[in-house]
Amino acid sequence: MKILVIGAGIAGCALGLALSKAGIACKLVDLKPAPTTAGGAFLTLAPNGIKALRSLGLESMLEGAGGFEQSGLEFFNANGRKIAAIKGENDLSVYGACGVVMRRARLQEVLEAAALKAEIPIEYGRQVKSVSETGDGVKVAFDDGSSEQADIVIGADGIWSQVRRATWPQAPNPLYTGIVDCGGWAKVDLPDTTRQQMHFGNRAFFGYTVKDKTAYWFTNIPEAIAPERGELEKIAPEVWLTKVRELNREAVEPVRHILAMADSAIGAWPLYNMPPLPTWHTRRVCLIGDAAHAVSPSTGQGASLAVEDAAVLAMCLRDNAEPQRAFERYLDVRKARAESIMEFGRQIGDRKVASTMGSWFRDLTLVFFLRMGRSATKEQYSYQIDWNANMAQEHLQ
Ligand SMILES: Cc1cc2nc3c(=O)[nH]c(=O)nc-3n(C[C@H](O)[C@H](O)[C@H](O)COP(=O)(O)OP(=O)(O)OC[C@H]3O[C@@H](n4cnc5c(N)ncnc54)[C@H](O)[C@@H]3O)c2cc1C
Repeated sequence: MKILVIGAGIAGCALGLALSKAGIACKLVDLKPAPTTAGGAFLTLAPNGIKALRSLGLESMLEGAGGFEQSGLEFFNANGRKIAAIKGENDLSVYGACGVVMRRARLQEVLEAAALKAEIPIEYGRQVKSVSETGDGVKVAFDDGSSEQADIVIGADGIWSQVRRATWPQAPNPLYTGIVDCGGWAKVDLPDTTRQQMHFGNRAFFGYTVKDKTAYWFTNIPEAIAPERGELEKIAPEVWLTKVRELNREAVEPVRHILAMADSAIGAWPLYNMPPLPTWHTRRVCLIGDAAHAVSPSTGQGASLAVEDAAVLAMCLRDNAEPQRAFERYLDVRKARAESIMEFGRQIGDRKVASTMGSWFRDLTLVFFLRMGRSATKEQYSYQIDWNANMAQEHLQ
């Protein structure tokens, strides 16, 4: 069976590796011109994501990728008063893994290197334009005029998935949240943090974590008007930093120290919520990762869910001869979990925007926000990939 995976991002590479573990061959294509060496700022992998990556045998490669463990969160109001904390000290014993902060490009490099080592073919510089199911397969057309036939196609092509749009032209598009995320890192004179530090400022939300005198910071800027796609990339990083400093002019320390020490922002990204899709598959086409269910970055779960999807879909394809049965089982196992995290992210995002509307309202919403956060993280982090599980559809009946 010829399996073509569109997108060699986190979900696509993880799927290649998971299929290889299940003894199934596939090919990946991606529009990026070459293997990843840079790009993006940093991300947090949640304990469930670390466990999913571990199940793909990536633990030792990840250790050499410059990530560091960080569990738990502390929240501060605009006056710098600590208002709450989510403890993370016991994450390792409770969930079997700690969260890890790492540069996005390093994670991507690890995944692509592992795919290379496993001899999974990745073709770069190939942008998918259209996907159409024929009687006995799927035809994929590329922007250079070439086309390819496969038995099944997996859309791992991110939040603006072309596979999704080509397969379900009526599917809803991502909705702009009113938030632009901006971030980077800075050399600082601060001790290591043990928990991520979250500041609900009067004009913007600011988060950071410090390791070995480097602060990894991000800020959520309320921006009512949705930017055009690609518009923010044209704005120089220094311009963003000036804007972020201005928004945090009255922020407490060490927020101002971190921003004073930053050379520039790494970039800025508009944040979207993806409305739930009625389904993620047809007979021969299936979506994973952000293409199926982009969750808000505020959840810290997007990358982790992408790896979980990959492992589960590979097991479903391993245990079901018919792709459609495999896709149905994958949907049964994954959709409710992803959608509850999407909803969680939507609620956090609303509260971040609301937090700029005044301290009384902000502090009130925080109480709800934190209560919700504590029970949600428990459910999210507990998830376990079990490669011995039988994913055959009839096994359910
Ligand atoms: C600002 C920001 C911060 C975030 N922080 C976190 C965090 O801390 N923790 C976390 O878990 N998640 C975070 N996320 C979410 C996380 O980045 C995504 O959930 C994750 O990248 C999804 O992986 P993916 O492989 O599905 O999609 P992507 O990583 O977007 O990969 C899609 C791939 O498909 C390729 N592609 C796209 N279109 C085509 C096409 N037509 N043809 C061929 N190839 C194509 C792209 O080049 C890309 O390589 C954040 C997101 C943002 C925007």
